[in-house]
Amino acid sequence: MLSQIKGLHHVTSLASSARENNAFFTNVLGLRRVKKTVNFDAPDVYHLYYGDEAGSPGTVMTYFPFPHAARGKRGTGEVGTTSFVIPKGTAKSWAERLGTFDIANITQDTRFGETRVLFDGPDGDRFALVEKDDDRAPWTGNGIGADMGIRGFHSADMRLRDGGASSELLTFMGYDKLETEGNVTRFVVPGGNAANVIDIETLPEVGHAGQGAGSVHHIAFAVENRARQLEVREALIDTGWQVTPVIDRDYFWAIYFRTPGGVLFEVATNEPGFDRDEDTAHLGEALKLPSQHEHLRARLEKLLEPIEG
Ligand code: ZN
Repeated sequence: MLSQIKGLHHVTSLASSARENNAFFTNVLGLRRVKKTVNFDAPDVYHLYYGDEAGSPGTVMTYFPFPHAARGKRGTGEVGTTSFVIPKGTAKSWAERLGTFDIANITQDTRFGETRVLFDGPDGDRFALVEKDDDRAPWTGNGIGADMGIRGFHSADMRLRDGGASSELLTFMGYDKLETEGNVTRFVVPGGNAANVIDIETLPEVGHAGQGAGSVHHIAFAVENRARQLEVREALIDTGWQVTPVIDRDYFWAIYFRTPGGVLFEVATNEPGFDRDEDTAHLGEALKLPSQHEHLRARLEKLLEPIEG
């Protein structure tokens, strides 16, 4: 069993409009855009990152906005709901705030005793804001103060026809099975960061998801550094997993592997971070390109739609 994995690092999803995506995460949810770059594997598309002030691991929601992409089909074999922490007692205020924007399917419920506000993103993405004590500092602005600001991720929720193999995998990765409520089982990584929860929702009758706008593309788990990442990679390979080589994503190092239920997992390093190529005070403002794509800058600046205004 591994001990290097510390919770979520980032969650990456697909969108149909960079402009709408940016407005939703900054103006509605009040996160900070911490990086404006391109998909390193397909540089005609943005890669936008939103999080806390520094883009700390465990706070960063990222998107590949493919203009006019068709919506994904909800189902199994995917991450259903991405959850963020909000301060206790603010669910009602959040529901009211979301109601003042054009946000679909706002509801409230309780899971494992925690109060949640559920709602859809611009492409039918499913999100929850979960009330919990959390000492991470929120980014503030856009009418959201520290009293209600999002603290970072709470959890990601995998929707699976059969959760057995993924439960075993999470256990191998260092997660403890905490409790079960209905068809949802909660896993928590001891000694992890504040984004230390994964829920598995078992839906044996539900068909497979189809990926598109609003779908989660992958979830990334945090390890401290490259040495810990190599230990995880070796252990996964020794157990029979097909894991990619280590890939340089400029702001972290990444390895990827496909889980039995169909969800793509990444393990990402907390180093070097988003201030690697711009000052913390100006994160996310300029278009940053990895050195291998810098020669495309003039073409990309024309091609990529403006995300503000
Ligand atoms: Zn990633």
